[in-house]
Amino acid sequence: MRNLNELTLLEAIDGLKKREFTSVELTNACLRQIKNQDSQIKALITTLEEKALEDAEQADRAIKSEGAVVFEKKPLLGIPYVCKDNFSTKGIRTTAGSKVLENYIPPFESTVTGKIKEAGAILLGKTNMDAFAHGSSTENSDFFTTRNPWDVKRVPGGSSGGSAAAVSTNMCLFAIGSETGGSIRGPASWCGVTGLKPSYGRVSRYGVVAMASSTDSPGPISKTVEDSAYILNVIAGKDSKDATSSHENFENFLPTVNKKNLDGVKIGKPKSYFEIDIEPGVAENLERAIQKLKEMGAEIIELDLIDPKYSIAVYTILQRSEVSSNLARFDGIRFGNDRTNFGFEAKKRIMLGTYTLSSGYYDAYYSKAQKVRTLIKNDFEKAFQNVDVLVAPSMPCIAPKIGESDKFPMFGELIDLLNEPSAVAGLPGITVPCGISEGMPVGAQFIGNFNCEDKIIYVSNLFQKETDFHKIGPKL
Ligand code: GLN
Repeated sequence: MRNLNELTLLEAIDGLKKREFTSVELTNACLRQIKNQDSQIKALITTLEEKALEDAEQADRAIKSEGAVVFEKKPLLGIPYVCKDNFSTKGIRTTAGSKVLENYIPPFESTVTGKIKEAGAILLGKTNMDAFAHGSSTENSDFFTTRNPWDVKRVPGGSSGGSAAAVSTNMCLFAIGSETGGSIRGPASWCGVTGLKPSYGRVSRYGVVAMASSTDSPGPISKTVEDSAYILNVIAGKDSKDATSSHENFENFLPTVNKKNLDGVKIGKPKSYFEIDIEPGVAENLERAIQKLKEMGAEIIELDLIDPKYSIAVYTILQRSEVSSNLARFDGIRFGNDRTNFGFEAKKRIMLGTYTLSSGYYDAYYSKAQKVRTLIKNDFEKAFQNVDVLVAPSMPCIAPKIGESDKFPMFGELIDLLNEPSAVAGLPGITVPCGISEGMPVGAQFIGNFNCEDKIIYVSNLFQKETDFHKIGPKL
């Protein structure tokens, strides 16, 4: 018998509906796991034990008085979750992993956490991250480094590292992260869980501490693809508070067709994504995953896509330019501590971004990067004329040891090269566990055309149903 905190989100909802256990029991199971594990893993910056139990009692009362139908109005009722610390939570400290916001208590709620609250979920805590989401390891957090639950000497990935580590250790039923260029898919794959980066605009950015506003995309990190789809149903949609949020309607991201095979599905294999320097253990697992997809009936079509190495420069210039502009608001006068509190990485990015935006250099850098971004976007569009989804490794290697990234001044930008092309193009991507190398999890990602989350969810869900990698967890 599994502990309650080990259930998937959909299993937990089912159990709550059937009154097999209470939300208080479920919440206590997660809080116990946090108590037992977090001194070692360090996934959380803030834990909200008392408030969480109060909310759980309230959820139990609603389930008792209204019965299972209450879940039609409140699809996440009584479900404990954690959220990356860059989502503004009214009355709850929101640091974005930075000393600048060490004592910042937002007077308003982000759209994502507001929707989740409205859906009845219980916020257990706020998770660690690279400060202002700059990085891919959580080593740039101004507070502490989160440990990879599979091997505590390794990084969990970043910047949503605390969220991925919390899901991987069953401290919660699901987590919320955000991605600008790899920050959901990277840590989810390195921690052996599922991570969904929606299309740009699919989920509102309102109330998320901005990193690069033209690519920032909030999304779920969960135990299964179905769980991520269920959460996306709650958080997606047009928001009048975010002018870039999508008008595109959606009905239901949960896969409704109950087929077991992938007959008729065309999966593109971008050659350039497999020709870069990928660790042999990662490459082997990807080949096995592709073989599995073939056995399931998919047609694998090798195709040419722009070499992902070009996206490193595009992503770096766009992201740092937008960072320099977005971090200007932290002047120590209106809110937060003064600018001397910025960490090394933030200072570096602000300086480079200020350079690429300054007169005389704007055309050579920022404007040119935007043009190449369009080429990358067009290149994807061409590919999606012939295939339904693309498959690629989520990361080129397994999670590195803590401290290794010090050797690479541009670690954050370099390591996420397989996520950056789709991120700058605004496309959705999902990572699912597809194997183990040197005792560490490996992730395969599926990339979809703009606003085609349904397709990547469909394919990755069937793959997950036919494999067991998502059921293997770290030995704690
Ligand atoms: N690797 C990216 C960076 O360091 C991660 C950023 C993100 O997606 N928030 O910029």
